[in-house]
Amino acid sequence: MKFNTKTIHGGQEHDPAYGAVMPPIYQTSTYAQSTPGGHKGYEYSRTHNPTRNALEKSFASIENGEYGLAFASGLAAIDAVLKLLKPGDEIISTNDLYGGSYRLFTKVYEDFGLKFHFIGMENADKVRNYVNDNTRLIWVETPTNPMMNIIDIKAMAEVASDHDILLAVDNTFATPYLQRPLDMGADIVMHSATKYLGGHSDVVMGALAVKDKELADKLYFIQNASGGVCGPQDSFLVLRGIKTLHVRMQRHCENGRQIAEYLKTHPKIEKVYWPGFKDHPNHDVATAQMDDYGGMVSFVTKGHDYDEAIAIVEKLKVFTLAESLGGVESLAGHPASMTHASIPKEEREKTGVVDSLIRLSVGIEDIDDLIEDLRQALN
Ligand SMILES: *Cc1c(COP(=O)(O)O)cnc(C)c1O
Repeated sequence: MKFNTKTIHGGQEHDPAYGAVMPPIYQTSTYAQSTPGGHKGYEYSRTHNPTRNALEKSFASIENGEYGLAFASGLAAIDAVLKLLKPGDEIISTNDLYGGSYRLFTKVYEDFGLKFHFIGMENADKVRNYVNDNTRLIWVETPTNPMMNIIDIKAMAEVASDHDILLAVDNTFATPYLQRPLDMGADIVMHSATKYLGGHSDVVMGALAVKDKELADKLYFIQNASGGVCGPQDSFLVLRGIKTLHVRMQRHCENGRQIAEYLKTHPKIEKVYWPGFKDHPNHDVATAQMDDYGGMVSFVTKGHDYDEAIAIVEKLKVFTLAESLGGVESLAGHPASMTHASIPKEEREKTGVVDSLIRLSVGIEDIDDLIEDLRQALN
């Protein structure tokens, strides 16, 4: 089955009760048993729920994995991955990453004895330098949020397999429409399904997909034991979202390209971060591992000014000033004061998240309206 077909049919069956084409929202916490243990595969909805199960099969299918897991948020999914580790274990992570992931790593898990190394991952040798006997996990986000750096997943997979380390890839920005990390040697792919997979800014959810049975069993154990699961209504919404992932992503990419090119020629703008540009430092890797360049675009103005950046995002009308990304509607964000406020200023400026940086999640509206909106806001 090819990708677009998988988004609609992958892992799905019509409901056995009445043949419902969409899985019903099984809004129940528990299931009747005829005798203790006499049930139809479902006992309690933290452990299993038919609507969530249908979604988990879809996650596995679209990421070319064998097993999928759904969580109450992207961070709950990351939390489950970190619970595979124990005190003293070390993690090498992308330094330019989602602020909430950084907060979870440093403010929660460092206290439990995990040690994180945040580094630029522009080449594999640099990563190898940080590997030691305690290294258990390499955490990669690509494209990165919000600087749109590209990390070579295959090269990271080589480092990981040479040293028997797990490689996890946060695939939220690219989605499997553009890039399939498990095919490139990653062990775990993670999503904030809140973003493109859900796609309509109406649900918060996280996902994991893996190929290996033993790893999947450990993660299912953690999912049930820690309990960070999502509800059936949200599972239904994300399952519905995934069915149009490919058509939405196609338009996100087309609009993203036009916006990036428009901004690049704008006299007030100093730099546009978008991996489709030939002068992007890892453009060749992006072209090799992605099928297109996505709908996320960041830029800085020539003024380098905090107040100017704030004025621009306030003036936008079609773009909504809001946290998050990946919905059908265009959003603008100011990372320094919003998504990345939890990263200390010196740390974030080292990676390029300066006060004048603006991040756009380009939606699927008519491109002329989006460009006109940016034109008036930059004026
Ligand atoms: C939003 C996001 C997360 C966190 O997901 P939530 O669903 O908000 O918990 C993790 N990684 C990336 C890249 C994100 O954009």
